Order: sequence, then structure tokens, then C-alpha cells
Amino acid sequence: MAVVFDPPRIVTIPVKGGGEFPVRRVYCVGRNYADHIREMGKDPEREPPFFFLKATDSIVTNGADVPYPSRSSNVHHEIELVVALDRGGKNISAANANACVFGYAVGNDLTRRDLQIQAREAGRPWFTGKGFDASAPVSAISRRADVGDLAMGTIWLKVNGVERQCADIADLVWSVPEIIAELSTLFELAAGDVIFTGTPAGVGPVVRGDVVEGGIDRLEPLITRII
Ligand code: MN
Repeated sequence: MAVVFDPPRIVTIPVKGGGEFPVRRVYCVGRNYADHIREMGKDPEREPPFFFLKATDSIVTNGADVPYPSRSSNVHHEIELVVALDRGGKNISAANANACVFGYAVGNDLTRRDLQIQAREAGRPWFTGKGFDASAPVSAISRRADVGDLAMGTIWLKVNGVERQCADIADLVWSVPEIIAELSTLFELAAGDVIFTGTPAGVGPVVRGDVVEGGIDRLEPLITRII
């Protein structure tokens, strides 16, 4: 096939133990820990999860510098469990969902909070607040075959060594299998899809020069610097 210019680079995430995970789509879940829902001024009643996308090429791998994005003066960190799929489909049951999981990683759903809140209040899409360049740092993926089904474990984030977020992924309002099941009723999921599963309380601003470090028990840590 004669493409008219060099194709865009394939976005990949390193896999612990070797290999690269090719990324198809980056799905994100909004409001999935009760204490974070409260800090964002909303009611943590268990409503169906809601979703948004980040651009696939907004992925930043561990150790890379993250440029502070344009048009914002309030960029927030959001530490999240990331699920990487190597199988997909439509209408996947929660009971079968873990069989679609290739592995897990630690992600930071970087957010232009000022633009996100403006959009939220105006009833507009979150895209400029959430989907900007380099908005999705992700650690190396640990294979589910190595770490098992991840349903509990401490999730934490530090900025310049000071703890900002600390919770347990057992406190997810919607579990990983429930998220996959719900998402698969809206979109046909496929190998290469990754899902950011939501952040616990403690979100806050980052500035240029900050070293942002996050982790989840049994997973590879995520360290990036804001420049
Ligand atoms: Mn988030």
C-alpha cells in the first residue's frame, strides 16, 4: 500500500520481562473511588461508571519527561491502576472479563483541572482537560500470568518524595471485571486497549520540576518528571 507519508509511530508500552505492548485505545473511567468523588464535589452514589478517551499517542513511558501542557495553570496528578487487554469483544460478562486482561500497570491520568472543570460546568466534553499530549504516563506492564488477578493492594503517589495519594484498589467503586463488562456494552473491546480505572482522593497540582512517583503493590513503579 502506498501511504502518502511515513505512518505515525506505533505506540507501545514496555512489558516486564520483555516485549512491547502495542496500544490501540486508551479508555479512562471517571469517579471510581468514593473519597475522590466527594473531593470533586459530587455524590458517591453507585451510578454506572462513565468513560472518556485519551489519544493513544498521549502515552508516556516510565522515566520520560512530561512537558507541562499549554493553556493550563492547574495541572493535576491522578494515580490509577491501568489494565491492559490482549483479548476483547462485545458484551463480555464480568465473570469472563479477567480472561481478557494481559496485565496491569501504574498510570497517571494527568488533567488540566481548570479546563476540565470549565467543560464540566458548561456540559461540554472533557477532551481538552484530559486528552492532551503526554497526558498518560504509564509504567511497564506486569503480566497477569505473573502477578495474578489484581483486586487489592496499596496505590500511592508522591510528588518530590511527599505522599499525596494513598488508598487501596480494593476500594474501587466498580471493580476491574465490572468496568470491562460495562465498557464492552458500549464499545467492542480489542487487544491493545488499555483502561485507566480511576483515581483515589488526594489529587492536586504539579509544577515544572516536580518528580512524580507512583506505585501499586506487585506492579512496576512509575516515575516521571514534569518539565
Ligand atoms: Mn482519572
